[in-house]
This record gives sequence, structure tokens and C-alpha cells, in this order.
Amino acid sequence: MADIIQLLPDHVANQIAAGEVVQRPASVVKELLENSIDAGAYSIKLIIKDAGKTLIQVIDNGKGMSATDARLSFERHATSKIRSAEDLFSLNTKGFRGEALASIAAIAHVELKTKQDQDELGTVIEIEGSEIKNQEVTVTPTGTSLCVKHLFFNIPARRNFLKSNNVELRHIVDEFHRVALAHPDIEFLMYHNGSESFNLPKSNYRQRVVNIFGNKTNEKLVPVVEETEVLKISGFVGKPEFAKRTRTEQFFFVNNRFIKSPYLNHAINSAFEGLMKDGSHPSYFLNLTVDPKSIDINIHPTKTEIKFDDEHTLYAILRAAVKHSLGQFNIAPVLDFDRDRNLDTPYDFENKRASTPTVEVDRSFNPFQEERVQSRSSGSSSSSSSSSSNYRKEPASQWESLYVGLESKGTKTENNFSEVQFESQPENTSLFDDGKQVETKQRTYQFHNKYIISTIKSGMMILDQHRAHQRVLYEGLLKHLTVKESVSQQLLFPLSLEFSSSEMEILENLKEDLEHTGFIFTSFTEVGIEITGVPINVPESEVSIILEQLISDVEQEVPDSHFSATDLLAKSMAKSLAIKTGQSLSRLEQEHLVNSLFACKEPTVSPTNKVTFITMSVDDFDKKFI
Ligand code: ADP
Ligand code: MG
Repeated sequence: MADIIQLLPDHVANQIAAGEVVQRPASVVKELLENSIDAGAYSIKLIIKDAGKTLIQVIDNGKGMSATDARLSFERHATSKIRSAEDLFSLNTKGFRGEALASIAAIAHVELKTKQDQDELGTVIEIEGSEIKNQEVTVTPTGTSLCVKHLFFNIPARRNFLKSNNVELRHIVDEFHRVALAHPDIEFLMYHNGSESFNLPKSNYRQRVVNIFGNKTNEKLVPVVEETEVLKISGFVGKPEFAKRTRTEQFFFVNNRFIKSPYLNHAINSAFEGLMKDGSHPSYFLNLTVDPKSIDINIHPTKTEIKFDDEHTLYAILRAAVKHSLGQFNIAPVLDFDRDRNLDTPYDFENKRASTPTVEVDRSFNPFQEERVQSRSSGSSSSSSSSSSNYRKEPASQWESLYVGLESKGTKTENNFSEVQFESQPENTSLFDDGKQVETKQRTYQFHNKYIISTIKSGMMILDQHRAHQRVLYEGLLKHLTVKESVSQQLLFPLSLEFSSSEMEILENLKEDLEHTGFIFTSFTEVGIEITGVPINVPESEVSIILEQLISDVEQEVPDSHFSATDLLAKSMAKSLAIKTGQSLSRLEQEHLVNSLFACKEPTVSPTNKVTFITMSVDDFDKKFI
């Protein structure tokens, strides 16, 4: 048989390799910005059209390239940054693989203009799909301009795989933030579709963070500084009360390179332990400086992961440094290593005054009403010690309702139940007697402040309160959004909220839909909004959380999901507004929720397709009792 192995032509090999370097427009942005920094630029301009799908251009005032280098720069493995494998271990440039320009040129139309300071004239090169179309001498300022058009023009599958402009732009802005944060001493400008998105003058680190994330950021930053033999830390963490529900403000830079490290992230979280509300994430902007020899950045092609020689030590130093800063700025009690931590006052209580105990009066108690009013307090039900002084009777009735289904079926266990007595109760009130009373009235019972149990004809139904409520709210919101009629509640004072320009762009797109849910905006600028009306049922204090959640949901729009802004808005708001796990509900609320769920079109699943309730038949129970 004849030989069949062939060497792939260069342009095919380049195209294949390009897939690894260039996943989306944001990858191009990252590579070009990094090249400009490596070229010593102190002013870098990024110009984007249609979220990078039409144009990505980076203009810098760096050292530029000679005509020969300009041509060579598009060759695979052409780099000026390392000469031997040894150099890899003392790297202080961003790039070193010499792959980026070759890859980008393989899958786009590229125009490079570059000039070195000492030269009169510069060079212009045009390449399309690795083919040089033109190279000539040109008049151009010192530095480099790289213009990338029609990305993936020759790989339609990749082009179709790109997400909506919102999502692609979000990725670009993320890359831009990362690079700009790592280099406050460089001026950065970004334009999208002709308008300025960011104007970041050369500044100090704090100012850079504030310029990117808005003025409101300034007051929430707590400096972190630490210098040890193996690690230098500088930067900021956010005060706990400003924590976000998303992880968009979490940045680690190691030797000026953005990295992701779940391990170091854990160190920060553990420093914030006890200070954070559930589901919120601390902000941090931290620069770590380590000996380049002690890290290996070569393990991941997109280079956001990193391997440290001694992770454990870094973890401990980082955690201690952050804890120390929080302590110094009176945000948390300073850690005293000799003291038993259990003796520390929990942060929540630190500034609370001691209060006189109050006697709880149940205002809804009505002696003429047969039905028992359930205790709204949770957690007291497990009081098993017989002498417990704060023993309350109500929990017993909660327990009884568990048996409602069984009793109504008249199972043989009745007699056994009637003999069960509470040790602590002096009176001989039997569970069963009480239960009988409840039997006809109480049809729901909440347990672990998470599930609602309801008896049904065939047995028992257990409903997830958070998911069920999401379904109810979602269908209601969708209705408002589609019939475009809504009810607003006026706010006493207008509410002003600040957002970054990329966040504003997302809100702008959803403005009309938001208005249909009941929001009334009196101003909608590039830096924020003013609200005078909110949808009925939306507490004012929740507004910023809802909008933040919404923005983050849009950003993380699930791939392949069929995107509809209306649907996403309804889902996101339903998620934010729904009764949470952990919230105790009165019996009326419980019953109302059950009834509302079954009035829905699709009661069985939550808006995100998760089961809302399960049922267990008496047969199922019987089987378990064999
Ligand atoms: P790498 O950055 O890994 O070296 P690239 O493909 O990104 O590989 O770039 C190839 C070479 O082109 C670089 O090593 C550098 O010498 C040159 N180059 C790229 N961009 C610029 C720029 N903006 N200014 C000056 N030189 C550049
Ligand atoms: Mg590079």
C-alpha cells in the first residue's frame, strides 16, 4: 500500500492551532493588549465594533517593529521574548509562545501597521487567513496598530458558535479589566461602537479600581499589604457589607498576570468567615509578587491557571494578611492566636447592645378560634431536655401534623401514638388527642424552613418552598411582561443606583421590559439610574440586589438556551423575590403557596426546570413499615 501520511499545509495547521488560542473575540483582545504591554507601551487604545465580531483594534505607543520583524511576527513560534527553554523560568513578559499573531491571522482579516521610533516610515501588512495580501511602507506613528476584522470568517462553525453581543462584550470587558487592573501605570481607553466605554488615565492602584468599578467602590476598599520572604501582597479587599452576589469583583494577579485560583480564593473566603451573608462573595483586587522561578504558568494554554511551588504557605500568608487588614480597619475582631477563637464575640453581635428580654405575646391568638396558631419561631422544636425552661407547647402541634395523613386513614398505629407523651409535660396531653383537633384544620406543615408538607388524598406531598414560589412569581411576571400592564408602587424618595458602563449597557437593553414589570426610571445615564417606582411586592431594599442578579444572569446566559430577554427577566426576578430556604412561613402563607402553585400552568417544575414537589403515597409509607 502506498504511503498515506502527509504534512498538513501551514495554513491548515495554523487554523487548527488557532482554535486553542482564539476561542472568542475576547481571546484576541487579551493577546493584543498583552503584546502592547510587552512592547513597553504606556498608552493603549482598544476599539471594538459589534462585540468584536466586526472589528477589534488595538493601538499602542510601544516600541514597534522593523519591517522584517513585522513580517516574521505572523510566523508560528516567532517570538522575541524567549531564546531558550531556560528563559521560561525567569519570564517577565506576558507572551512567550509566539503563537498569538499566527493564530489570529489564520482565522481573520488582519492589518498590522507598525513603526519604530528611529525610523521615518513604518510598515503595513495585510493578511487574510494566513495569506499575505499586501506589504508596503507607510506613514504611521511610532508604535503598533493591529486591526482584526471578520473573526472566524473561514470557520463558519466557530462564528455561529459565538454568543450574543452582550455575552461576547462581557468577556471582552472582563479581559480589559484584568489587563487594566494589572497595569495602573499604563493609560487605557476602550471604545465600543463609536462611544467611549472606559477612559483610564495612568494612576495609582486604588484610583484604577475606582475608575473601573465606579466611585462607590472607593469607600468599600480595605488595603491589604504584606511582605514576607516568599510572597509580597498588595491591593484591596471589599468590606463585607458591600459583598456582591456575583464573583465579578474577584481578581488575583501574580506578577502582574491575572490568574484564577480556587485554592487562593478559598483562603480569602476563610479570612472572611463569619462576616459574610450566605450567597455573597467578597470583592478583592490583590497583587501577589513571587519569585518567577517558583511558579509554572506554562501548564494551561490560556494561561490563567498557575502552579505554585508552595501553595500551602501562600494560602496561610494570604489568609492571615486579609484577616489582619479586616481586623485593623475594625471590620473584624483582630485574630489573637493565643486565645480560644470560640471565646470571640461573633461579629454580628459585636456592636449590639445587650437588650432586656421581652415577653413574646402572640397577638393573633384568639381563644374563640378553634384552630391553633402556629409558632413562627423556628429552632425551638428540638428542645428535648425535660427541664428546659423555654419549652413551648406549640412545637408539639407541629410534630403532630406530621401524622395527619396517617391518622385520617385510621391506621392501626393510632393507639401507639395515643400513648406517647412528652416527658416534660406535666399534663397528660397525648399527641393523638391534639392531633385529632388539628386533623380537620391543618393541612400544611413546614419543616426545616425549607419544605412544606401537605396531605393529599393518596398520601403526602412535599413541596420545595423556594422553587414553588419561583414558579408562582415567574408565571405572574411573564403575564405582566407580555400583556405589558403592570402595577407600580411609588417610592417616597427616588432611588439612585450606580453601575459600570458595561452593566448599564445590559440594563439599557432590558429597560423596556423592566418598565413592564413596574419599574419607573426617571433617569438612565451612562453611570447609573434613578428609580421612582418599583413593581408591587418588590421591597426597596431588594432593588439593587435584583438588578445585580439580573445583570449577572444576563452575563452568564446559558449557552444554547434560547434567549429571550423577557423570559430571562421573569426568571431572574422570580429567583430574587422568591421565598428563600430558611424562611419560616405562617400556616396561611403555606396554604396560599400550595394553592398558588397549583393554579399555575406548569406547577411541577420551577422556571429553571427543577422539580417543585414530590408525592409519597400511603402505600410507599406502608412499604417502609414492613
Ligand atoms: P508572543 O507574544 O508569544 O511572543 P505573538 O504572536 O503574540 O507571540 O507576537 C509575536 C511577536 O511579535 C512578539 O514576540 C513581538 O516581538 C512582536 N509583537 C507583537 N505585537 C507587538 C506590538 N504591539 N508591538 C511590538 N511588537 C509586537
Ligand atoms: Mg503575544
